[in-house]
Amino acid sequence: MSDAIKKRGSDEIYNKLKEIVGEEYCSNKESDLFHYSIDLTWYTPSMPDYVVAPLDVSEIQKIVRLANLTHTPIIPYCTGTNIGGLCIPEEGGIILDFRRMNRIIRIDTETEYTIIEPGVTHAQLSAALKEVGFESSWGVHPAPTSHLAMTVNHGIGHLSGRFGVNSQFISGMEVVLPTGEVAKIGSCAYSDSWHSLYPLPMLSGLFIGWLGTTGIVTKLGIWIHKIRPFNDVYSIAAEDMESISSYMKRWSDYQLCDDNTAVSWWLAQIPIPYPYIEKPKDDPEWFAYTVVTGWSEDEISFKRKIWEKSRDTAIKEDNAKLVDFEYPSEAKRGRTELPSRIVGSTKNYAKSCGGGIAWPGTFTPLKNWPMLYKEWKKIYIKHNLSPAVRVTNYWGPHYGMFRAMTPFDKRDPNSVNKAKAAMSEAIKVGQKYGMIPYKPPVDYWNILNEHADQGWIMLLTRVKDMLDPNHIMNPGKLGVR
Ligand SMILES: Cc1cc2nc3c(=O)[nH]c(=O)nc-3n(C[C@H](O)[C@H](O)[C@H](O)COP(=O)(O)OP(=O)(O)OC[C@H]3O[C@@H](n4cnc5c(N)ncnc54)[C@H](O)[C@@H]3O)c2cc1C
Repeated sequence: MSDAIKKRGSDEIYNKLKEIVGEEYCSNKESDLFHYSIDLTWYTPSMPDYVVAPLDVSEIQKIVRLANLTHTPIIPYCTGTNIGGLCIPEEGGIILDFRRMNRIIRIDTETEYTIIEPGVTHAQLSAALKEVGFESSWGVHPAPTSHLAMTVNHGIGHLSGRFGVNSQFISGMEVVLPTGEVAKIGSCAYSDSWHSLYPLPMLSGLFIGWLGTTGIVTKLGIWIHKIRPFNDVYSIAAEDMESISSYMKRWSDYQLCDDNTAVSWWLAQIPIPYPYIEKPKDDPEWFAYTVVTGWSEDEISFKRKIWEKSRDTAIKEDNAKLVDFEYPSEAKRGRTELPSRIVGSTKNYAKSCGGGIAWPGTFTPLKNWPMLYKEWKKIYIKHNLSPAVRVTNYWGPHYGMFRAMTPFDKRDPNSVNKAKAAMSEAIKVGQKYGMIPYKPPVDYWNILNEHADQGWIMLLTRVKDMLDPNHIMNPGKLGVR
């Protein structure tokens, strides 16, 4: 290897990348790279040196081997909407853009799983599955973003109430390791059947929740589910978080719904008020909806009865101050016909100011939601920001999403700094309530890792070092390497 190739951003590396993927699918032009230097968050833009769009696994292997030889960072990229700066190439390097690897390789309706590549979008998969009467779990993300990137990073979708977070749907994987070898994980390692990760050692854990820092998932097996023909959305409002969380706990104990969510008044506004405005005195502070599905009208009315019982028990036993509220029909359609433009419209979150959006998005025990909301509300109002909070249960009452959508004006440093300060303070206070941020930006890792178990940090670092000895995979994103 010549000296020239050791330099980042060299023509020699660029020429080699062109040889691998073809000139049309590789660029080092500023005008092409700019798009990858920014995202929706507060992160300082940083340019990659190259972008490549490989077509298959063998091209990825060649790129990875070249990156190891030249110590060039690789950033796996689907559409970059992760809201955590997770694809910003802080140290430059190669953006591996999966737009061409967008094949749905198999839909097995007998064993009920699908195999997808990283570039497959929620909309694409949803449409293909719907044609054969199936679905996966879609979130409120923009529909043209990656189902694989969401799933391998513990994404959350409309079936999270029924089955848990999306990573719990994974049934098999094919991965290009940071050193260029390819490995299959799960039943697919032994036959062509991608039905399950069990009962094998869970090596899938080396790539789930690692934010692209330990390998490149090139194929993902995911369980799919028959679309149930009947559905309904029940809604209720409340004066305070204590009331809404007591009702959500009572209802989620039965594990009968697909989705159990509540949003604060500020998140229910479109767009989110920016800067903060006071809620009208007579409006409830919380609006909850739950989606139920079933195989018959009878099943839906049975669930309705149990839902009413949960609501009444929360009122009687917990003194929950709940009020009736009719969920708007357009929103109802958005919740039951996912992925939806209505709920996934980023502009609804960001159009109120200058296009910036981020969140402290967390997994937090349900019993701590009221205390945490009180603290976050104080922090957000102090920074003149709306406490636009959403809570959602996953698979029963144990824990759930607790997050604040935080719009800000990217053109105004003062606005960016205020939002950033509010989010960091929110992460700091959350620690005492058992809160763990999901898809965390490096800033959050830095706060968290200060108080983490040292054995955990040692293990995390050791696994990362073992898999990625040259530290080329999405460097810096774990807060430990
Ligand atoms: C308004 C809004 C609402 C959202 N709501 C939700 C929601 O409800 N639920 C939810 O889960 N998400 C949500 N998101 C986050 C995000 O949009 C989705 O998770 C989306 O599906 C991620 O896909 P992406 O193409 O943007 O991934 P990217 O941002 O491109 O990638 C995400 C991470 O995965 C890594 N990665 C990419 N490809 C690979 C690969 N092949 N192998 C290994 N690592 C890889 C990247 O390096 C990065 O760390 C929301 C985003 C917005 C803007």
